[in-house]
Amino acid sequence: MEAEIEKIIISEADIKDRVRELAERIIADYERKELTMIGILNGGLIFLADLIRHIPFAVKIDTVRVNAYAGNATYPKREADIVDSIRLNVKDEHVLVVDDILDTGKTLLKTLDIVKKLNPLSVKVCVLLNKQERREREINPDYCCFEVENRFVVGYGLDYDNRYRNLPYIAVLREKQDK
Ligand code: 5GP
Ligand code: MG
Repeated sequence: MEAEIEKIIISEADIKDRVRELAERIIADYERKELTMIGILNGGLIFLADLIRHIPFAVKIDTVRVNAYAGNATYPKREADIVDSIRLNVKDEHVLVVDDILDTGKTLLKTLDIVKKLNPLSVKVCVLLNKQERREREINPDYCCFEVENRFVVGYGLDYDNRYRNLPYIAVLREKQDK
């Protein structure tokens, strides 16, 4: 995999530090509250798994599967589809939706739509990366580890054609990839 990487843009150590810092904020904000964290599959998986292990109080976990990309394309489909929804009852719970990256905003807005219909006490958005420049919908992260520029990135949950999710850092691929 490493031969296909052009450049590491966020190191493993920096991710660890920022995830821990962000967890401290979440701990302060949600202590003594009923918190359900909802990860967006597959991209949000690694971030969610690392984040929740810093949290010392009881927290419920669920996932949604959302498809925003067709096949191996690096451009988003017009709309995001919820392929598999949450199972937990989040009525009267505080909900934190966790994803790898906030890009156009379609995936998170669609997820927020379905969560809000379940009457939670609050819903907030937590992402590892924010690609502000590409936003098409009015949505901003409540918690975010890093701002990134408008380049296609992989690693730490983010894939290209379902590969590279297991890289421990965030990187840009070499140009020869079809992207
Ligand atoms: P949005 O719906 O906000 O446009 O896109 C969110 C989803 O698109 C993310 O959950 C992520 O899976 C994917 N995505 C957006 N930007 C990138 C990127 O730079 N790299 C990768 N691998 N996926 C991205
Ligand atoms: Mg995703």
